[in-house]
Amino acid sequence: MTVRSEKSGTKTAARHVDVAVIGSGFSGLGAAIKLKELGTHSYIVLERGAEVGGTWRDNTYPGAACDVPSQLYSYSFAPGDWSRSFSRQPEIQAYLRNVAQEAGVLDNHLFNCEVNEARWDEAAAQWVVETSQGRVTARFLISGVGALCEPALPDIPGIESFSGEMFHSARWDHSADLKGKRVAVIGTGASAIQIVPAIAPDVAHLDVYQRTAPWVLPRFDRPYFGIERWALRHVPGLQRLARAGIYAARETQVVGLAKAPKLMAGLQALAQGMIYAQIRNPELRAKVTPDFRIGCKRMLISNAYYPALDRENVDLVTDRIAEVRENSVVTADGTEREIDALIIATGFHVTDSPMFAGIFGRDGRSLAAVFEENGMQGYKGTTVAGFPNLFFLVGPNTGLGHTSMVFMIESQLNYVVDALKTIKRDNIATFEVSPEAQASYNASLQEQLKPTVWMTGGCASWYLDKHGNNTTLWPGFTFSFRSMLKNFDAENYGITVMADTPETRTPAQAEPATAATGKKASR
Ligand code: NAP
Repeated sequence: MTVRSEKSGTKTAARHVDVAVIGSGFSGLGAAIKLKELGTHSYIVLERGAEVGGTWRDNTYPGAACDVPSQLYSYSFAPGDWSRSFSRQPEIQAYLRNVAQEAGVLDNHLFNCEVNEARWDEAAAQWVVETSQGRVTARFLISGVGALCEPALPDIPGIESFSGEMFHSARWDHSADLKGKRVAVIGTGASAIQIVPAIAPDVAHLDVYQRTAPWVLPRFDRPYFGIERWALRHVPGLQRLARAGIYAARETQVVGLAKAPKLMAGLQALAQGMIYAQIRNPELRAKVTPDFRIGCKRMLISNAYYPALDRENVDLVTDRIAEVRENSVVTADGTEREIDALIIATGFHVTDSPMFAGIFGRDGRSLAAVFEENGMQGYKGTTVAGFPNLFFLVGPNTGLGHTSMVFMIESQLNYVVDALKTIKRDNIATFEVSPEAQASYNASLQEQLKPTVWMTGGCASWYLDKHGNNTTLWPGFTFSFRSMLKNFDAENYGITVMADTPETRTPAQAEPATAATGKKASR
């Protein structure tokens, strides 16, 4: 391990590194790999779990699989050997494990290491990270915690009094045997629609509590034929071609989602057709038909969800849940349904992640406090004013409704790598995006978001924060995001250079960083 240990001045020995990465899902692991490629030996990945994988390690519920074909939902530098078009959770988790091993970055991981707090120390120009395994100080901090890591639990009266098995979809209790039991699932999002068909044949009875009906499209999933899988691995360029084809096909959806929502009518007709083809009962058809334009909430894909709802032993309940009792769920109409197990598939804290409360910037305020005031705003999804030397992977407005997040993560990693190269070349001690650059970036984003289906489609979704702003999604083509993050734009940052007394440059003084010796940094 290349991590240095040194006395911190307090009783605990602190590790000091150049770069600390929080989390080892697709983004944190990708960062570790890029740091290693860059020749940065002094880095550490702080991972609260026992292995890499992030959301793909945590979401082990029955039926868990990806909605984006794995040829695209994988690192461009590690294409993978996939057994089917849409991979299931165990295969994705095994892929990430393999990638980490082959890249040789596991020695720089600290597993079972919970980050409790990260605080910018202005005097020392470094991050002080308090973890369950002691203090780590780092010049640069990369947050790779992702958006889908903190389960959101519903605030339903009496839920704590439920005496049966109860767990969140992202914390599946595999010791709970649901066979022959009366089970309830709360939620009808991307997780629930995979869980419901997976458990319905085994349980005695299943109640699915729906607050909002989602739009569901066909899932074109199939195992690869032997020769096809062989060819994808061995025919030069074929896998890249497959990846490019999937990328291009998915990117066409941006036109409807972000530019001209009326063009979503075709997809909506397809989804409507699914309802008619897969559900016989007219009452159930009406219940599952959404009242908003397709795309406004995340479009789901499943061939098995509607047939599962149509089963004799499954009821779709659309009345509001009023209360949970020791052995039952009671809806607003007074109906009490007895159950043995309760599965909570109500999603994640996305715009209000608890992680935000533990990261403190230059003026001592937490990300949570800053986001509370202005909404979740950043610059190019990757840096935040007031938080020097912090890179935020899967940051504000980097989410997608149509294609692979791995593409966005790799775009951000390009930016991080270019920033770190610039920092080394120009002897930079600290960088911090200017509030003006961030404000103008966000004003332009919100302007671009106005006509999108997420704002005009007539739904409430976790894409929007409590101010009504969409601070989660990228509003355009993903290749524009890639191109925006190609180079680190130091001119939009306040920068100090290495010296005994750091010389501070404001963004207005946009010129190559000058070392404190007065020597111009060479390009
Ligand atoms: P989600 O999409 O946020 O869905 C949560 C569901 O719970 C929604 O139906 C929501 O209803 C309902 N809900 C939330 N709070 C509730 C409450 N208090 N009472 C009743 N119902 C409540 O969460 P998710 O299904 O876990 O998926 C989250 C994200 O993870 C997805 O959008 C996707 O990005 C990702 N994901 C991807 C895959 C995949 O690739 N296949 C699979 C799983 C998850 P409302 O709609 O009314 O809010």
